[in-house]
Amino acid sequence: MSPPQPRQAANTERPRGLHFAVALANAAHPAVEWAGLASAHGDTELGARRVDSADLARAVAEIRAVFAITDNTLAATALNLLMASSDSPGAMVGTAEGPRGTELTQLENGRWALRPRIAAAETAAAVYRAVTAFALAEWLAERGRCAWGVCAAETCTNVFVDEGRRAPQRFCSTPCATRTRVAAHRRASNTANGEARRHAKAASPEAGPAA
Ligand SMILES: [Zn+2]
Repeated sequence: MSPPQPRQAANTERPRGLHFAVALANAAHPAVEWAGLASAHGDTELGARRVDSADLARAVAEIRAVFAITDNTLAATALNLLMASSDSPGAMVGTAEGPRGTELTQLENGRWALRPRIAAAETAAAVYRAVTAFALAEWLAERGRCAWGVCAAETCTNVFVDEGRRAPQRFCSTPCATRTRVAAHRRASNTANGEARRHAKAASPEAGPAA
């Protein structure tokens, strides 16, 4: 089987927000990195939203929980809830005043993106939750499955979007896939060497001639 070939770089050709979703979910300090990542992914205006560390950490945890879901129906339920939510008191959308709705937005690179309508007063946490949930929902609809995951490498907790067309992706990156494959190979060859040593000992002269 060929190793997975993840592509997690910022991808402004496909402004669906998936790469921004992944980058912030994997950030060591989401509140600190919010503005820089939003801007790097083509939306400086969203980067200027008010950031409350605890709120944003909560939103990131909610989104990370979705990345761990592998059941399509459960994922759809979780994403529908997230898309309907808004935790910003001043927001005119996603509240009792009306459904959030969607709108076309032109990004800084000139490309158009369909995404949830976002009120001017909404915080970074509300924006992240809404935009990411919408992007993942579109992705589920397009791929017909939960085409995402949490890295299977032992010491990695990164999430990823599975953009492959063949075998489901298991790792966040090529280094994680390689590291895991090398470790598994080492374990297998250690076991094989141990077996060989035991056999050699059993067959050695010290064990006594069979005659
Ligand atoms: Zn990883």
